[in-house]
Amino acid sequence: ENKYEVVIIGGGPIGIACALEAEKKGISYVILEKGCLVNSLYHYPTNMTFFSTSEKLELDNIPFISNNPKPGKREALEYYRRIATSNDINIHLFEKVNSVETLPDQSHIVKTTKAEYSAENVVVATGFYDIPNYLGIPGEDLPKVSHYYGDPHYYATQKTVVVGASNSAVDAALEIYRKGGDVTMVVRNAEIGERVKYWVRPDIVNRINEGSIKAYFDSNLKEIKQNEIIINTAEGEKNIENDFVLLLTGYRPNFGFLQDMGIELTNDGRKIPKYDEETMETNVPGIFLAGVICGGVETHKWFIENSRVHAKMIMNYLSTRKKSVINN
Ligand code: FAD
Repeated sequence: ENKYEVVIIGGGPIGIACALEAEKKGISYVILEKGCLVNSLYHYPTNMTFFSTSEKLELDNIPFISNNPKPGKREALEYYRRIATSNDINIHLFEKVNSVETLPDQSHIVKTTKAEYSAENVVVATGFYDIPNYLGIPGEDLPKVSHYYGDPHYYATQKTVVVGASNSAVDAALEIYRKGGDVTMVVRNAEIGERVKYWVRPDIVNRINEGSIKAYFDSNLKEIKQNEIIINTAEGEKNIENDFVLLLTGYRPNFGFLQDMGIELTNDGRKIPKYDEETMETNVPGIFLAGVICGGVETHKWFIENSRVHAKMIMNYLSTRKKSVINN
């Protein structure tokens, strides 16, 4: 009981992909997920559209049928939920993993908020969406400040500052503007990010050029107060009246969690965890990585489309290893 060949940490798309592969290979497993099913996706903006077409988000070739070529959040939740329920995936929700300990015999003890598990192997598929990149400025903890954006209606008629210039910041700025919010962007660099979706970029650039959305480039937020914000611009400090602040400056994986289980990270600033690119096994024998977590601070490097293959790589390897042990 509570003993598995594989404990998968994280019930995102890639954790689920790992479960499907484990099932196919007859490997006993459980997924431990700290929130709801596909928790990260559940917290994405209400009206978000994936940049991938639906077939690129498919797991195990199970068709993802969506109305438009690029599906939205609702459709993705529907898709991944149906996969989990119709395949009877073994998943424990609202159970957070606190630690993974490796014993001298190389098995692992996984401790959660609810129980303790013994695992021959562990797959870490914890993604990157839990920890925002905090700016560390005064006022960042005020109730009017958020590092996550949900729905534009909330900001109607309100003076809203969006910090950042990547996809999530740009999508939020455009949506809020179109629902009657008064939007100001504060952008660290000289222009809107290069990776902004090519079909969205002209929209934001034109709204800024015509003055519908105000933008301060080469600028940084210095302080957030109840009724105003202070920004550092090329022309000096500026105080702007303000109701809400959205700090959409990205997220990062929980590096402490990886290091505590003994996984080494590169110390070139990129913090890429050490793993074998063929088997996905880390420097800790029996602990594997899957999904976006593999990229360190480069959270744009791996996504569903290009990392769903990790599931097959890991489970094929474990299954071959199991067979060779049996044959010996
Ligand atoms: P996640 O989906 O983040 O899942 C990790 C899970 O682990 C979470 O559910 C989390 O709650 C859980 N977890 C974390 N820590 C613990 C713990 N200690 N114990 C238990 N559970 C834990 N990718 C694409 O391929 N195409 C797209 O079009 C696309 N669009 C995107 C749009 C937006 C707005 C964003 C933010 C991302 C987008 N991505 C897209 C990226 C994609 O969503 C992620 O790469 C994908 O979610 C990675 O899946 P994952 O399973 O590795 O991680």
